[in-house]
Amino acid sequence: MRLFVHTGEVFKAHKVGRFHPEVPERLDYIMSSSPHAGFTVEEPKKGDIDLLLLVHDPWHVETVRTTVLKGLTRLDIDTDVSRESFDVALWAAGTAVDAALRSRPGEIRLALVRPPGHHASRTESRGFCIFNNIAIAVEALRERGMSKIAIFDFDAHHGDGTQSVFYDRRDVLYVSVHQDPATLYPGTGFPDEVGTGEGEGYTINMPLPPGSGDEGLLTMTGVAKRIIEMFSPDALGFSMGFDGHHRDPLTELNYSIMGFYRVGSIFSDLCSRIPCFGTLEGGYDPFGLGKGFWNFAFGLAGRDAPYTEGGTTGPEKIEAYLNWVKSSVGKYWPLWAR
Ligand SMILES: [Zn+2]
Repeated sequence: MRLFVHTGEVFKAHKVGRFHPEVPERLDYIMSSSPHAGFTVEEPKKGDIDLLLLVHDPWHVETVRTTVLKGLTRLDIDTDVSRESFDVALWAAGTAVDAALRSRPGEIRLALVRPPGHHASRTESRGFCIFNNIAIAVEALRERGMSKIAIFDFDAHHGDGTQSVFYDRRDVLYVSVHQDPATLYPGTGFPDEVGTGEGEGYTINMPLPPGSGDEGLLTMTGVAKRIIEMFSPDALGFSMGFDGHHRDPLTELNYSIMGFYRVGSIFSDLCSRIPCFGTLEGGYDPFGLGKGFWNFAFGLAGRDAPYTEGGTTGPEKIEAYLNWVKSSVGKYWPLWAR
C-alpha cells in the first residue's frame, strides 16, 4: 500500500514553556528517523474557522483566538500556547482534514501535526490540546456523505475530548486502548463509559494496567479490531499516540516499537479495503516516538518493520482487565461465546 505523511515546518511554530514535554522537536524526532524510502511527504494545509466549528462551540473558538493573540501563555494548567498557536492549530485541523478527505482504500494518509487534539472537548482546550483534530476530520468526512466512521485511539492516555464529542452518537464508533485511568491523566476511560442514548455501545474503553507491555496492547487491539470490523465503518481514523513506549517519561505501559508495528499490521488488511488516515497525538521520547511512528506506519502499509527492538510482555493481570472490558462491552458486541 502507498503511504503518505502530511507534515511541514509550520507545526513547529507552536511554542510551549521550557519544561513542557510537547516540544516542537517532536516532529524532528520522527522525520530524522524516517526510513530512506517507502513513503511520500505531502504539504500541510491550513484550515479555517468554519472547520473548527464542525466540532467546537463558536464562543470557545473565539475565546481561544483572543486569549492567544493577547499573548497569554496558557489555556489550562498544562496547555501552553504562544502567539502563533491559534494559527498553527488551524494548520493542524486543516491537515488532519486533508489527510482524511484524500484517503482511499489501499492508501494510508497520516497527519504529523502539532498541537495534538484528543483531549480537547467542544468547549475546552486541555491536556496539551487546543482543538480536536481527529474529531474535526471525522465530521468533515460525515459532511462529505460517509455514514459510519470508526476511530481507534492507541495513545497511552484516554481521549476524553474525542469521547465527549461523540458520546451520544452511533454513527461514530470510538475505541480507545490506554493506561488504567485510576493511574494516569485524565482519569476517564473506564470500561463502563459506553456512550449514552443512541450512542450507547458505540464508545469502547479498554484500559491496561501499568507495565502491560506489547502483550497487553496487542490483546486489546485484537479485540478492538474485531469490534471495528463488526461496526463495518466507511473509514477508519487513528489517534496515533506513541507515549506508551517503555522509554516515555509520562506513562508506564512499557510497549516496544515492535508493539506499534504489530498494531499497524493488525489493521493493514482493513485499510486495504476502506480509507484509513491518522493524526498524531502524544509521544515524548525521541526513540519511542521517532521509530515507533515509522513502525506503526509501515505495519499499516503492509510492509516489513523498518526498526526492531525486543518485544515486551506484561503481568498476568491483563486477563482480569480483559474480563473487565468484556463485562461492559460484551452485551453490545457479541465477541465472546456464552
Ligand atoms: Zn498521551
